[in-house]
Amino acid sequence: MNYYSLHHKSPNTTFKNAVVEGLAKDRGIYFPENITPLSKDFIDNISDYSNHEIAFEVIKQFVGNEIPTDILKEIIAETVSFDFPVVKVDDNIATLELFHGPTMAFKDVGAKFMAKCLEYFNRDNRDEVTVLVATSGDTGGAVANGFLGAKGVNVVILYPSGKVSDIQEKQLTTLGQNITALEVDGVFDDCQDMVKTAFLDEEISRTLTSANSINVARWLPQMFYFFFAYKELHKQHKDLVFSVPSGNFGNICAGIMAQKLGLPIKHFVASTNVNDTVPNYLEDGVYTPKPSKATISNAMDVGNPSNFIRIRELFNNDLETLKSAFSSYSFTDDETRATMKKIYENSGYIADPHGAVGYLGLKKHGLKENEFGVFLETAHPVKFLDVVEETLPVKVEIPEQIKKVIDNKKVAIKAASYEDLKAYLMK
Ligand SMILES: *Cc1c(COP(=O)(O)O)cnc(C)c1O
Repeated sequence: MNYYSLHHKSPNTTFKNAVVEGLAKDRGIYFPENITPLSKDFIDNISDYSNHEIAFEVIKQFVGNEIPTDILKEIIAETVSFDFPVVKVDDNIATLELFHGPTMAFKDVGAKFMAKCLEYFNRDNRDEVTVLVATSGDTGGAVANGFLGAKGVNVVILYPSGKVSDIQEKQLTTLGQNITALEVDGVFDDCQDMVKTAFLDEEISRTLTSANSINVARWLPQMFYFFFAYKELHKQHKDLVFSVPSGNFGNICAGIMAQKLGLPIKHFVASTNVNDTVPNYLEDGVYTPKPSKATISNAMDVGNPSNFIRIRELFNNDLETLKSAFSSYSFTDDETRATMKKIYENSGYIADPHGAVGYLGLKKHGLKENEFGVFLETAHPVKFLDVVEETLPVKVEIPEQIKKVIDNKKVAIKAASYEDLKAYLMK
C-alpha cells in the first residue's frame, strides 16, 4: 500500500517509508492511497473470527506485501495481547475499556504495533534508528513499554519535569535497556518544541523518527478495537454511536477509518475538554488552532489536533458531509467531575476523567430509541489517581502492571534546552 502526504508536495511512498519517516519531507502527515471496504460476509459473521483474525483482516491492506503474512500475524499477536471488555453503565450506554494493556492506556496498542513494524523494517540496517517523542504523560509510558528491547531501535522520551503523575513518570523512567528518559525543565510544549527542532536539524534528523499518532503504524491499529466492540454488541441490533475522548484525534480518526472499511457505526462524537478547537470549527466553519489549556483530562490538552486533517480528508474536506456523521462537544473540568460522580452513583463504575468526558459527549448528543452509545475508556483510573480519589469516595486498587513499576528506581537525564538534547543525541 502506498501513502500520500496531506500537504501534497512530497512523492507518494510505501508503508515502510511512511513508518520509518513518520512525517513526509513536506511536513505533511501520511494517508493511505486506497481504502477498500471489507466484505459484507466478514462483517456479518464477525462473531466467527478471533480478535487476532479480525485484526489481520483489518490491517492487511494497509501493510500490503511489505511484511510477510506470518510475521504480520506475530506482530498482531504481540499487539492484541490483552482484553477489550465492553462494560454496561446505563441501559443504553456501555464503555469500551481500552486500558488492560501493559501501561493501562489505549496507546499500548499503537505503540506495540509500531515498535514491531519498525524493528522488522530495520532488521538488516546497521544504523540504529532513534525514536524521539515528547509526552505529557500517557504516550511516554506506552512507547517505552512498546519499544522495550526492540532491536536496532533506541527510544528517547522527553517529559516535563513535575508535570506528569508519579505513576506515569515511573512508567517511562524505570525500564532501562534501549529506553532513555530526558527530564525537561519546562512544560509539555517545550518538550514538543525540542522534538520539532531536532527533526529540522540536519545534523541529527537522518536517524530520527517519531512515535506520535501521526505515524501510520500507531494510528491504523487503533481500528482494531472498534471491530472488537462491534463483535460484542452487534447482536443487540441497535445503531451504534461512539464517543471518543479526543486530544490529537488519532483514536477517533481510526474509528472513522473502521467505518470506511464497512463497520456499521452510525455516528461519531469527538468529546473534548475545554481545548475546543474542533467543536468551534464545527460551529463556525473556521479552524483556529489555539495554545493548549491545562485540564484534569490532561492527555487531551491539545490546541491543534494533528490528526484532524486526516478526518477532513476522510470526508473529502466537506464540512456538511463531516457534520452528518460526526459531532464534537467540549466540557469543563467541573462538568467532568460531576459526571464522574454521577456515573459512580448510578452504576458503581469508576470512570477516569477522560472516560467521563466521553460519557458526557453521548449525553449531549442524545441517543434515540434504537441507538446504543459506547464511550471509550482510554486510561485506567489509577493513571489519574489524584483526581479520581479527590472526586469519588473510593480508594483505587493498584493493578499488577502498576505495582511492578512503582517501586523501581527512576533514572532520567536532566535537559534544560535544545542543546542538551542535541548533545545527547550526537553522542
Ligand atoms: C492520548 C489520550 C487521549 C487522546 O487520544 P487522541 O488519539 O490523541 O485523540 C485520550 N485519553 C487518554 C487517556 C490518552 O492517553
